[in-house]
Amino acid sequence: MSIRVAIIGAGPSGLAQLRAFQSAHAKGAPMPHVVCFEKQADWGGMWNYTWRTGLDEHGEPVHGSMYRYLWSNGPKECLEFADYSFDEHFGRPISSYPPREVLWDYIQGRVSKAGVRDYIRFNTAVKQVSFDADTREFTVTAHDYGLQQSVSQVFDYVIVASGHFSTPHVPEFEGFERFSGRIMHAHDFREATELKGKDLLIVGSSYSAEDIGSQCYKYGARSITSTYRTQPMGYKWPKGWEERPLLSRVEGDMAYFGDGSSKRVDAIILCTGYQHHFPFLPDDLTLKTANRLWPLGLYQGVVWEQNPQLIYLGMQDLWYSFNLFDAQAWFVRDYLLGRITLPETSAMQADSARWRAREDSLESTASMYEFQGSYIKHLIEQTDYPSFDIDAVNQIFLKWKTDKKRDIMGYRDKSYRSVITGTAAVPHHTRWLQALDDSMEEYLRETSGQAGVDALAQR
Ligand SMILES: Cc1cc2nc3c(=O)[nH]c(=O)nc-3n(C[C@H](O)[C@H](O)[C@H](O)COP(=O)(O)OP(=O)(O)OC[C@H]3O[C@@H](n4cnc5c(N)ncnc54)[C@H](O)[C@@H]3O)c2cc1C
Repeated sequence: MSIRVAIIGAGPSGLAQLRAFQSAHAKGAPMPHVVCFEKQADWGGMWNYTWRTGLDEHGEPVHGSMYRYLWSNGPKECLEFADYSFDEHFGRPISSYPPREVLWDYIQGRVSKAGVRDYIRFNTAVKQVSFDADTREFTVTAHDYGLQQSVSQVFDYVIVASGHFSTPHVPEFEGFERFSGRIMHAHDFREATELKGKDLLIVGSSYSAEDIGSQCYKYGARSITSTYRTQPMGYKWPKGWEERPLLSRVEGDMAYFGDGSSKRVDAIILCTGYQHHFPFLPDDLTLKTANRLWPLGLYQGVVWEQNPQLIYLGMQDLWYSFNLFDAQAWFVRDYLLGRITLPETSAMQADSARWRAREDSLESTASMYEFQGSYIKHLIEQTDYPSFDIDAVNQIFLKWKTDKKRDIMGYRDKSYRSVITGTAAVPHHTRWLQALDDSMEEYLRETSGQAGVDALAQR
């Protein structure tokens, strides 16, 4: 009998797993009995945009945290699938920082070609996973909103690919309950034009703070004040954007900061991060971790050491993304197909402890993506995932960091070369700061004549 595998989530991680199984099957390996449970009506996870906030149409917590006008915040050359290039998908070179819809299209292209959609049970939210130590089987209970009924199925393996940027971490500050404007977490932010002409306060100094602030600046916020707990982001912000030490309290529409200064604001966005949250898992199977490069408890970053029939994908702090999920999914596939044997629990733990110690010793930003790159390298050496030049990708990350330092509002106008195909990205026809229409149609519009020449000349 073929093994029975449940995958929870059809985002980039879950889809990487489906593609991994299908690619082995295409070369003659047995296809396990796979069911991928996806609570949304379509695939792509975060990249499948929703306007909804709060609860979805079924009363489930809305998964999506992406917003309109989101463009990739890292070069696409750092996340390209090694088995499905941008050239293959788009048929021509595109720019290095595509908008969300374009990346969603790319993600879908590979799995449509692989023909794996039928393995996915859409509109079906996993509610509970239990493990029977005697039979060594999982029971997965889910609610199928299409059929409007609860369903239970037995599996040998469960792969958790439900993401970790969906359940917000929401601190409270004194005076919030009487603030006269809107307060929201980044998870609920959707539309930057809502803040046009407004004075915005952003709490946090992470990617969300940087990117949501940039969106709001681009779409006409009057001022942006971002507050940091430990360190300012330190970019050369445009006029109207300043960084202040942490918010201490709010009174009416006045925000007060750690240095005693104050500012009147219309709205507050909490860019305060996300929690790893798995409400469907029993305590002893639940990964508990902060957002870090090497969460403990996962052998090779994926196998739950206490019960190797449970797998987690994509739970790391992400520098790399789609290609990291691929490397993990191929490793998991080969383990499940019996091609890779796991060591004893103690040896798995010792191995993880070594990776974690390495993570703890990292000092520079460059050493962090090099660390993640070496992890990916280590995984793909064990499978037939097409190898690619990870050192070259690390170099692109390095340039990206430098470009951001030089010009935080202009770094998305830069172009890089694919390490998969060698193709040089072409500059987008409009500079990012002026490109207000983020639709795929507008993005892929061919520039002709002078407009294209001008776009190139601006670089
Ligand atoms: C605002 C924002 C911007 C980002 N920008 C970038 C970027 O520019 N570049 C980049 O590389 N990465 C970016 N990311 C990271 C992004 O999370 C990853 O690229 C990627 O989406 C992670 O894939 P995943 O499959 O692990 O998780 P997700 O994409 O979160 O997918 C998880 C899937 O699991 C489903 N699910 C969850 N719970 C259940 C359940 N109980 N039952 C059934 N299904 C369930 C969800 O509906 C979802 O489809 C960004 C993230 C955010 C939040």
